[in-house]
Amino acid sequence: MKREVVETLLHLARSAHPREMIALLRGHGHGGGEIVVEEVLLAPLAMAGEDFSEFPLDALPMDPSIIGTAHSHPVMDLEQSDGDLAESFGKISVVVAYPYRGLMDVAAYSPTGTRLHIMVL
Ligand SMILES: [Zn+2]
Repeated sequence: MKREVVETLLHLARSAHPREMIALLRGHGHGGGEIVVEEVLLAPLAMAGEDFSEFPLDALPMDPSIIGTAHSHPVMDLEQSDGDLAESFGKISVVVAYPYRGLMDVAAYSPTGTRLHIMVL
């Protein structure tokens, strides 16, 4: 994950607090199961409240470089909820949790809910 991606996600999460934020992630697969996340895009028509964030899937641009989503949890909880897992989209789902200090408040999951190791590039 590029450093500026981490910083942008933390910034968006802090700005949205106490509501959730949701964003799209752009990047590419890199062989050997590695995924490179290069850019954060704002989700079209995103809606967010204190315990939900969503956007209509049919509003997504047809863009194969969009590899997943990121959303924030305004509470200290990096775990994916059952709803997060059910709505997981793409190759990667990122959760940014309060208090949004840095990488320790960021988690990445595979579509099946396995926590992924994040390396900052
Ligand atoms: Zn969630």
